[in-house]
Amino acid sequence: MGYFRSAIDAMTGYVPGEQPAPGTRVIKLNTNENPYPPSPQVAVALKNINLDQLRRYPEPSAREFRQAISEVFQIPADWVIVGNGSDDILNLLVRACAEGDNRKVVYPIPTYVLYKTLSAIQTADIVEIPYPQNFQLPIEALIAANGALTFVASPNSPSGHMVSLDDLRTLAQNVSGVVVIDEAYVDFAEFSALPLVQEFENVIVLRTLSKGYALAGLRVGFGIANPTLLAGLLKVKDSYNVDAIAITLGAAAIRDQNYKNARASQIKASRSKLSIDLKRLGFSVPESHGNFILATPNSHPAESLYLALKEQGILVRYFKQPGLEDKLRISIGTEEENKTLIEALASLIQNNP
Ligand SMILES: *Cc1c(COP(=O)(O)O)cnc(C)c1O
Repeated sequence: MGYFRSAIDAMTGYVPGEQPAPGTRVIKLNTNENPYPPSPQVAVALKNINLDQLRRYPEPSAREFRQAISEVFQIPADWVIVGNGSDDILNLLVRACAEGDNRKVVYPIPTYVLYKTLSAIQTADIVEIPYPQNFQLPIEALIAANGALTFVASPNSPSGHMVSLDDLRTLAQNVSGVVVIDEAYVDFAEFSALPLVQEFENVIVLRTLSKGYALAGLRVGFGIANPTLLAGLLKVKDSYNVDAIAITLGAAAIRDQNYKNARASQIKASRSKLSIDLKRLGFSVPESHGNFILATPNSHPAESLYLALKEQGILVRYFKQPGLEDKLRISIGTEEENKTLIEALASLIQNNP
């Protein structure tokens, strides 16, 4: 007998973007981390952590964090579920809702690859509906696929486009399963689908502290939905899925919206500038609503640029996948990092015409 279930043998594991060892000098524009530090309030909260807190198990529902969410977003605390990153909540959703060909997982592609990985582990059938060129949501096909779970990332990665509230509404109205709106990048966008959780019992909106709040290393994300929908997820959740430090620091970060918004504005301004600079170098750069851009070089293969940049200590993301193999996903860095990237690309392009 093999060690693993056949589904595990058959699948490929999720491959996260490279994480260089601490202290390595690289310009890291490959995993959409925030280039700026988290709120100073997080540093204060960290200093005040009492070691005695760590002797005990954390509060299972992350009450302190849910309370902060409740105040900041003006929603009842029992409409919030907290995860060890929003990946944890994606995992809960797949485990709670999906299975085999009766309870399929459906999503438009290209999108976040973890949806596929989690579904493969669960042995849930997957229906992937390609986005058209203009990235309009393929609503009819999504509805027809009849998912127990339908994922829509908005803003989407790696494309950076957003899905309109009307389209999300139509989708939620016409499927009987759960619609997951993954808003990992909402802090860099112009609107949120959060109001839809009030309108539809089958909608959950996911948020993370990894991008907008610069806390990818802390592992905190949350979902907002009505208590009926959350009840099933709570049964599947590990009792202590979020640690005591993450609960306290997460609450401090959420309460400092001013800081988060100020950094997001900075990143959005850099996004505009970087787009213009890349266009000058002959890239095509569609509008992005996230903290990254998906750029297509017009004269050089994306993969060779990716490798050449890596040799110079500049990491960007390259996906060897149909539809993406001619593109680079570049996280927005600091002004200085973006400038170094542009200079490196300019010289690569000039020296290898
Ligand atoms: C980064 C990202 C996540 C994961 O966020 P974590 O909270 O760090 O687990 C989820 N969805 C999308 C689309 C992402 O890009």
